[in-house]
Amino acid sequence: MPEEMTCPQCQSPMSSRRVGDVTVHQCSSCQGLFLERAELAHLVEAETDYHRDTGPVTRPMPRITPDMVAPPPAPPSTRSYIETLFH
Ligand SMILES: [Zn+2]
Repeated sequence: MPEEMTCPQCQSPMSSRRVGDVTVHQCSSCQGLFLERAELAHLVEAETDYHRDTGPVTRPMPRITPDMVAPPPAPPSTRSYIETLFH
């Protein structure tokens, strides 16, 4: 695979970067991601690991108190491991 890739969508240069065990190529302009099939499998595995201990089932419910006027702020968390690629 060549080091320098060009975005198929906007023709901007794509930079490669390590994410965990895989290398992804991200467009510097439109943030498009390119990855190989094997790399996607790695990311799916990482996604599963990411959720293993953070699922809503194991997360304690917020305590409801009589003087509560608004829902407690949601804990800051990304919705998926894949989303962390775009930060
Ligand atoms: Zn692009």
